[in-house]
Amino acid sequence: MEINLDLKHELKNFSNKKEQYTIPIFIPHKGCPNNCVFCNQKKISGQLTDVTAQDVEDKIEEYLKYYSNSKKKIEVAFFGGSFTGIPIDKQIEYLQVANSYVKKGLVGAIRISTRPDYINRNILDTMKKYNVKTIELGVQSMDNEILTLSKRGHTALDVVNASKLIHEYGIVLGHQIMIGLPGSTRESEVYTIKECLKLQPQQLRIYPVYVIPDSELYSMYENSEYKPLSINEAVKRCKAVIHECQKTEISIIRLGLQSTDEITAKNSQLKGPVSDNLAEYVMASLVKDKIEKEIKDRKIDDGKLIINVLKKYVSICIGPKKINKIYFENKYNIKFIVKGG
Ligand code: SF4
Repeated sequence: MEINLDLKHELKNFSNKKEQYTIPIFIPHKGCPNNCVFCNQKKISGQLTDVTAQDVEDKIEEYLKYYSNSKKKIEVAFFGGSFTGIPIDKQIEYLQVANSYVKKGLVGAIRISTRPDYINRNILDTMKKYNVKTIELGVQSMDNEILTLSKRGHTALDVVNASKLIHEYGIVLGHQIMIGLPGSTRESEVYTIKECLKLQPQQLRIYPVYVIPDSELYSMYENSEYKPLSINEAVKRCKAVIHECQKTEISIIRLGLQSTDEITAKNSQLKGPVSDNLAEYVMASLVKDKIEKEIKDRKIDDGKLIINVLKKYVSICIGPKKINKIYFENKYNIKFIVKGG
């Protein structure tokens, strides 16, 4: 049996990161007054020191050495989740450095990430002044009970208000949501994404919850008060969220955490769906469902299933560690062949 597979719908929301370079600058919020159960920011960032304006400049210079001859867009991204919660003089110090590169035409855009309750008109005036193009909100959930269980310290209404204000200022809006928070279910996560999509964010990050040593969630895990998701469960839950995204044009700019030494280490202390390529598993599973739908009710009588796809989708069709190939070959007792054209 031979199938021509069109994956435009299944993978339409996954953004093509190849079009852009990011200069990531991690700003840990050392004085954060909040106490989200899943957080141990210093651990996850791998950075324990205070960031200075000089550090920002050094980082940008370091990356520009590699990127300067490229025609791709370059963006400076301040990650850390609470950028607008750090002292205003620090924010301005960092933004002044980044903006000087925008003015020189060496960097195309600046992005920051922050909490929904750290957005107001004064803050957005500052962001506008320093050419911040994109603001990502750490939504995590739109279910107030789950936000309370995670001790986020903000409500779903804060997300609504902040999102509307960011749109009003003409700044690109990104939402970050988490999969597998305490008390969270597939249904509450689908509810969350539906509520987010009503606010029309242009970009989305989906993070599965990792249990980080020294976080409150780690103690909850040790006391059997929290059960982390497995990779398989995380894949299923992410797919439920993505099915809602497929009804819109939102761009999923990240699924799963950035690969760090701690994530890839064999003796990692992290618990949960720890994987440096979760997105590949999720995409492969979406493709597997599509293939299964295509061959349903049809008979594979020649012992072969040949899938013709665009060249760029070949590895996704086969899946990481060949999971799709193994699945189809075992289930249907056939040879699974993917051809890229
Ligand atoms: S995740 Fe929560 S506790 Fe951690 S820095 Fe952000 S707001 Fe603070």
